[in-house]
Amino acid sequence: LRSEARTRGLYHLFSATGADDFPFSTLQFAELAEITGYSPFLAQDALGSLNPDAEVINLLHRFGSDVQRGQWLARLADGDIGSALCITEPGVASSDPAGLTTRATERDNEFLMNGEKSWALGALSPLCELLVVLALTDPGPRHCHSLLLVPRRAAGVQFGEASSFFGYRNEARGGMAHIRFNNVKVPQSALLGPRGEGLATAQTSLGPARLFHCMRLIGAAERALRLLCNRASSRSVGGEPLVRHGLWLDRIAEARIRIEQARAVTLGVAATIDAHGLSAARTGISLAKAFVPSATEWVIDMAIQAHGSDGMSHELPLAAIWAWARTLRFSDGPDEAHRMAVARAELKRGADRSTGLKSGAQ
Ligand SMILES: Cc1cc2nc3c(=O)[nH]c(=O)nc-3n(C[C@H](O)[C@H](O)[C@H](O)COP(=O)(O)OP(=O)(O)OC[C@H]3O[C@@H](n4cnc5c(N)ncnc54)[C@H](O)[C@@H]3O)c2cc1C
Repeated sequence: LRSEARTRGLYHLFSATGADDFPFSTLQFAELAEITGYSPFLAQDALGSLNPDAEVINLLHRFGSDVQRGQWLARLADGDIGSALCITEPGVASSDPAGLTTRATERDNEFLMNGEKSWALGALSPLCELLVVLALTDPGPRHCHSLLLVPRRAAGVQFGEASSFFGYRNEARGGMAHIRFNNVKVPQSALLGPRGEGLATAQTSLGPARLFHCMRLIGAAERALRLLCNRASSRSVGGEPLVRHGLWLDRIAEARIRIEQARAVTLGVAATIDAHGLSAARTGISLAKAFVPSATEWVIDMAIQAHGSDGMSHELPLAAIWAWARTLRFSDGPDEAHRMAVARAELKRGADRSTGLKSGAQ
């Protein structure tokens, strides 16, 4: 499949979103992401767009210096090496990146890094050569973190046990790594993007990536609904197929409604990015991220329910895609934080309106 994707010019398509000559709008790209979600465990690998390589390549396109691009970009884009994004830490709430404690202290034109990261997807893959680490370079009231490019084999990088989620180890990516950084030295030139603005830099890639995750989930939910309909049409209880029971008709209708809502919301935000830029779409991205994982999780859950025990087996993809949807309710920002962002924007909108009314401007 990989070589077929290369022949058709589709390989690494997803990673190229930061490139100047990228041929698709965000909206078109989101629609492609949905198609890949229909086969979530083959398509991304076949297209060379496994996370987090796609995001890392995107960051290098946008923020890498010539030297950094020369060192990493081509090899990553060709799939010769892999990468990992190291943001989460075991000891603190990583949903709030301001509290992350891994330190990179400046000393004689280099940074000395100390700290611990967890859940780094891809870091244990034999191909992984590059860690993109979010570290505190400028402690102070603004908690300024920076992104640093750290060779995986740098002295002082120490790997612990891999983590699994619901028993899944994400074998294709080598599992999720626990990493200690013990006096790891990297040159100042390892800074990716502006110093002290690592969070904002990461967001330029992670923001749109959230939408693409949502679209992939919608593709996966479509697949779950197809399986649900097939099963409910062919399995009989009390002498009647499930689809003759009003309850299951209602569930199928509800599943279709949730998928259509999820797609409309997500594509609407993608169109906003194309028309008005990323910052105009921030609340929309939060809205989609707060809505789509739980909406699609419900659809997949109903498909599991219709299949009984088979729904939880590894013969069908339902258990694995449910686990994936479930993790997206807190990774890349928990539902609560995204809902809070939506509520704050709404309150601000209300305040702006009432200010306008008081001053007579309607
Ligand atoms: C499959 C998988 C792959 C991952 N890949 C990576 C990776 O490649 N790199 C990486 O760095 N990390 C990765 N992670 C980790 C993931 O990004 C973090 O688990 C996530 O950011 C949440 O951080 P935390 O676990 O510290 O939870 P916490 O921050 O402790 O949050 C726990 C809970 O607290 C509540 N909460 C948090 N904030 C708020 C709020 N503002 N208001 C109300 N309640 C709130 C929510 O219910 C939340 O779920 C991965 C995780 C999984 C499961």
